[in-house]
Amino acid sequence: MSTHTSTGSAEAVVPFDEAMSRYEPVIGLEVHVELGTATKMFCGCATGFGADPNTQTCPVCLGLPGALPVVNATAVESAIRIGLALNCSIAEWCRFARKNYFYPDMPKNFQTSQYDEPIAFDGYLDVEVPENESGGEAFTYRVEIERAHMEEDTGKSTHVGGATGRIHGASHSLVDYNRAGIPLIEIVTRPLRGAGDRAPEVAKAYVAVLRDLLRALDVSDVKMEQGSLRCDANVSLMLPGADVLGTRTETKNVNSLRSVERAVRYEMTRHAAVLDAGDAIFQETRHWHEDTGITTSGRPKSDADDYRYFPEPDLVPVAPTRDHVERLRATLPENPAERRRRLQGDWGYSDLEMRDVVNAGAVEVIEETVAAGASPAAARKWWMGELARRAKGEGPDSTVLDLGVTPAHIAELDGLVTDGRLNDSMARQVLDGVLAGEGTPVQVADARGLELVQDDGALQAAVDEVIAANPDVVERIRGGKVQAVGALIGQVMKAMRGQADAGKARQLILDTLGVQG
Ligand code: ADP
Ligand code: MG
Ligand code: ZN
Repeated sequence: MSTHTSTGSAEAVVPFDEAMSRYEPVIGLEVHVELGTATKMFCGCATGFGADPNTQTCPVCLGLPGALPVVNATAVESAIRIGLALNCSIAEWCRFARKNYFYPDMPKNFQTSQYDEPIAFDGYLDVEVPENESGGEAFTYRVEIERAHMEEDTGKSTHVGGATGRIHGASHSLVDYNRAGIPLIEIVTRPLRGAGDRAPEVAKAYVAVLRDLLRALDVSDVKMEQGSLRCDANVSLMLPGADVLGTRTETKNVNSLRSVERAVRYEMTRHAAVLDAGDAIFQETRHWHEDTGITTSGRPKSDADDYRYFPEPDLVPVAPTRDHVERLRATLPENPAERRRRLQGDWGYSDLEMRDVVNAGAVEVIEETVAAGASPAAARKWWMGELARRAKGEGPDSTVLDLGVTPAHIAELDGLVTDGRLNDSMARQVLDGVLAGEGTPVQVADARGLELVQDDGALQAAVDEVIAANPDVVERIRGGKVQAVGALIGQVMKAMRGQADAGKARQLILDTLGVQG
């Protein structure tokens, strides 16, 4: 019985732990990265996202007869840098290939890609998989990279008139070729074994680490939800100790980190049910459905032969000199994971503090705030405390980075507190002004007249007055109840209209009463 169905209904699955007690999973990840180059892979058309349909096209990317492609040098350099960052070898000489198939959104009827001569090959990426909720420990998994190759994106079809937006039931379709020809790098792992029941987590952690790395390389905006980073997840199961890999399925459409983990996990449990029933897995693509958490059958997966690959005759080979490759190697950023470890050490943050900072996307702003003169502890306090609270108030998707306050502002503001010019509540008022666009912290403090009274005579006078007016409280303090001083501090602050340093007021009250704090 074939398990190939075209319905969208859920299929049988085996509970995850049970599946893992009988089978060993193998996964393979194909990640497509849309490069952030200004122009397309083989023509000079612009690549900006969101332009009116078909306004960023030309004879080359529309596949008109006689149009000749030219390789985008920046895209090749990005490909080489990605390959180097993934510890790959870089080809001394490689060609593009035509991958022949028909899709209405691919006007040439072939995709210019690379096949047996990728620009980068044989690399690896070490991935730290964090501990999980069921008590699994953190571990490092080496993901072997088979290749990273250059290709071009297709256009985009919109199916109109149907209920679902799918082609079935649509009255007509529209094609936008703006995306056709945008440079893509496809990064393909080898079949990954040995992760066992942690395989879904390995998949997720790999895509997360890869995304960080690509972001650090500054080659793409790596937005999974906008499609500039796309992941296809291949999954198969085999009996433990078997020599031959099982038949794989390739799940498309997995456009969030969480979905990568869920889709791999789901396919493992579905494969187990098929195999348990004595059936064979049908090699096909599958579609991931975020809402229901299942995959459904896509199209049968053709083997490479069906694409009739052949070397692209219209493009010269790419032959980067070793010098050029070494110059590009010198532009690689520090590995993001190592960089985090180094910064955590420099800043003296605990693992938990660092993880919160990373998850909040605040590493860079804290780094810049420290560079601008704040202490690491103060920088963390501001960005993860007051500013995070304010960002939350702006809406669920807003982050500290959207507030419009800069690391230099925060360092300056913190300096005003450490210099004793502002107390915490005044600093928050100054922050209000900065966020309202009233200027830098110093400008806001000046304009709003916010400054702790430095005149000790005025503070002493207020202290004397409050002491004289509260003989009962004074008696309690003298009798040993030092906490009662809080009531007096409150009154002194009130008399000073908030413009006093509360710590200083406390000390002055105790000194005046001759009591030890
Ligand atoms: P395709 O042309 O089908 O996209 P690719 O070579 O680009 O093929 O990618 C196939 C991916 O599937 C690779 O990551 C590869 O390691 C992985 N893969 C191959 N065989 C298996 C298998 N039996 N189980 C799991 N993953 C596999
Ligand atoms: Mg592929
Ligand atoms: Zn073009």
